[in-house]
Amino acid sequence: MKKGFIIAIDGPAASGKSTTAQLLAEKLGYVYIDTGAMYRACALKAKKMGIDINDEESIRELLDDIDIRIENHNSKNRIFLDGEDVSEDIRADDISALASAISAIPAVRYKMVELQRKMGEKGGVILDGRDIGTFVFPTAEVKFFLTASPEVRAKRRWLELQQKGINKDFSEVLADLVKRDNNDSQRALAPLKKADDAIEVDTSNITIEEQTDYLYQIIRSRMEEECKSS
Ligand code: C5P
Repeated sequence: MKKGFIIAIDGPAASGKSTTAQLLAEKLGYVYIDTGAMYRACALKAKKMGIDINDEESIRELLDDIDIRIENHNSKNRIFLDGEDVSEDIRADDISALASAISAIPAVRYKMVELQRKMGEKGGVILDGRDIGTFVFPTAEVKFFLTASPEVRAKRRWLELQQKGINKDFSEVLADLVKRDNNDSQRALAPLKKADDAIEVDTSNITIEEQTDYLYQIIRSRMEEECKSS
């Protein structure tokens, strides 16, 4: 039996997907699946093993016994790679670029998508990523596509880095983000793209609370419609 809706939240880096998805999951009592964290875990594993991102054969081998788990600890997702909590390590700046590169490799995408479908098939889940509404769960009950201008998104990333005590030039943060957007939207397989039936929300000038509330109202009204029609 299905445990509830499958909710897809896609969009470019730093568009507010993960914070909103986490808050919505709490409000709805749903499981939050951060699919970006899974590609980041693959990238971290390749880095730890000293595998070149362009060496597709070694990357394919690395996938054979990879163990990625997402667990909820005190309302926060923790990511485990081969039994080790790597929640902080996968957020390192170099891992963002490596994750974007590794995610373009078909074998990596097939493996991650298979895992994501298994985790989400019963419903009662919110997944955020780049291809959830278009490829992972094209029949998701509610789909959102969050956007914000590159400058606003880079500012969010820059502030996050500052808070971690990492001083990086704003122009460099912006350039990295634009490069990653381009890689993610131009790859051949399941690129970053708005699904035709996704609701687009520009988060440039609204707070996290406002955007979470806006998405929540839309989800609730879809749930009510579903109840009436069943
Ligand atoms: O969302 P986050 O920035 O953590 O994602 C890291 C990278 O993982 C993205 O830049 C993208 O290349 C890849 N990704 C993906 N498909 C997803 C989620 C993330 O290709 N569903």
